[in-house]
Amino acid sequence: MKNIAVIMAMDSEAAPLLNKLEINHKIAGKIDEHLPMKVYKTKYHGHNISIVTSGECKRNKVQNVGTAPAVISTLTAIKDFKADFIINAGTAGGFKKRGADIGKVYTVDTTVFHDRRIPIPGYQEYGTYRSEHKIATDYAKALNIETAIISTGDSLDMSPEDEKLIESNLALLKDMEAAAIAWVTDQYSIPTLFLKSVTDIVDGEHPTEEEFFANLKLASENLGEKLIELIEKI
Ligand code: SAH
Repeated sequence: MKNIAVIMAMDSEAAPLLNKLEINHKIAGKIDEHLPMKVYKTKYHGHNISIVTSGECKRNKVQNVGTAPAVISTLTAIKDFKADFIINAGTAGGFKKRGADIGKVYTVDTTVFHDRRIPIPGYQEYGTYRSEHKIATDYAKALNIETAIISTGDSLDMSPEDEKLIESNLALLKDMEAAAIAWVTDQYSIPTLFLKSVTDIVDGEHPTEEEFFANLKLASENLGEKLIELIEKI
């Protein structure tokens, strides 16, 4: 029996999983009175499952995507819910030149940042914070999916500087949370599995934000299916 925490940025990404676990009707708890993260708890396949979404921004009334909320969710999962296995599930942009396709789901064997440029010896590598997640390979085999390198930054778009770093790290996926979550779980040496579903093709012809919304439902459905399969294999 494990205490599994599933860290997710957006409520819409979590909806299919909550439906499949039959906890969509449950009122989500809060992690504390000041923070907007939502928590759902259940048991599945002999494991205690906590699902934490980043909730809504109190100022802008949109979802709290990005690294800062993801770090809080992860730390809370570890300290308050005693998580000993972390799953970060979400959507990502994908590069078609590396094989990405809309709705395709990947595990992640390597996380890096592309927007922490600190050109000082030592700090450069700290900024990139390359982390390897060896468990990704076995779970990819078990789920019959591929593994990928993901690059994280706090923007949905991609500046030329971001692009250079993403390219030099051979990233297939681009998101706004993974490497930050990896940083937290690395401090505690907690096994972490990333499951990412492609909503948009970064090197394609459509604007990212349009493609993102057009494919969010499909990508989240595929993600939910693989998540259930994954939990059944832990
Ligand atoms: N426009 C959306 C916000 C989406 S932000 C809205 O208003 O609700 C994008 C979310 O999906 C982030 O959590 C990020 O991790 C992921 N994502 C999907 N495609 C991405 C891409 N091309 N670049 C970066 N993050 C992406």
